[in-house]
Amino acid sequence: MSRVINFSAGPSTIPLSVLEHAKAEFTDYKGHGYSIIEISHRTKIFEEVLHSAMARVKRLYGFGENFKILFLQGGGSLQFAQVPMNLMTKTGYAEYANTGNWTNKAIKEAEILGINHRVIASSKESKFDHIPEVKFSDDADYGYICSNNTIYGTQYKTLPKCKCPLVVDSSSDLFSRPVDISSVGLFYGGIQKNGGPAGVTMVAIREDLLDRADDTSTPMILRYKTQANADSMYNTPNTFGIYMLDLMLEWIENEIGGLAKMAERNEQKTAILYEAIDASGGFYTGHARADSRSLMNISFNIASGAEVEAKFIDEASKAGMIGLKGHRVLGGIRASLYNAITAQNVKTLVEFMNEFARKNG
Ligand code: PMP
Repeated sequence: MSRVINFSAGPSTIPLSVLEHAKAEFTDYKGHGYSIIEISHRTKIFEEVLHSAMARVKRLYGFGENFKILFLQGGGSLQFAQVPMNLMTKTGYAEYANTGNWTNKAIKEAEILGINHRVIASSKESKFDHIPEVKFSDDADYGYICSNNTIYGTQYKTLPKCKCPLVVDSSSDLFSRPVDISSVGLFYGGIQKNGGPAGVTMVAIREDLLDRADDTSTPMILRYKTQANADSMYNTPNTFGIYMLDLMLEWIENEIGGLAKMAERNEQKTAILYEAIDASGGFYTGHARADSRSLMNISFNIASGAEVEAKFIDEASKAGMIGLKGHRVLGGIRASLYNAITAQNVKTLVEFMNEFARKNG
């Protein structure tokens, strides 16, 4: 079997061992005579999978007893609206740090909902090429950040510390490194980059925040509390997605050895690509400022222009490397080096890049 090297920004590559595991038990789950996707979520068999995945999330990040883990639907995009709907108090205000497309969208939803909010930091002026300094007010209802900016390839080295609850969109660096959760009130991410297929959003929420939503105006289905009380089964959850997430987290825990090891691996492999860009004599230019470089998404351009970039993407694809086209708002090339990408995969890309630069430089 020949599998391509998949640098897609999401949904993205999954370790072959995880796919093989799912394949092996797909038609007959653990000898029960049915597939995990064919049974009710209200069975002991599915609940075991659900609770296993929730426990793994807690263990990996160190979320304590005062956190609830929820598996929701609607993607990161629903969280842009669900966060203000649930966390705003009647008289309070929210603060946002604007670091690109995905925070822009979150701010837009706050505008539509008419909540009292302000943007306290932004890197818009320099095309979102870095993470600005972020300092949230002590008494804000929440401070909102996106920890990794999938399009621009920038990432917070560490999460900001604040007295107000910190809300983190970690969609594109979920399960990729340990984080200091001491300020975190709500931590979320769609799992389709580092945790399995599309269709599940992991939300870790501090329990004391569950009571903030206004029961008279927030629809039941959109209250975190509803899902927290129903163990994420107020409506039928994405059973297959949660099952795949559990397998992915098992891989991170048992094959890799946890988030610190995951981060070490991610740092090593990302360094290989950044070094190649820096050593290309200006043929390749990275978008992110060096101090804000992402360990997950590396967005870069070829100095000679869009035509050569298109040729690069085409030739890479012929060489078995896909998903390298940059997001439409930035153009150029983007290599997403999520958890399942190996150092060897990156070396193969770098060999191709060096050869391409030699031929087209
Ligand atoms: N946040 C970030 C950082 C993202 O990268 C994305 C999608 N790529 C989203 C939010 C939106 O996620 P979804 O498409 O699952 O709604």
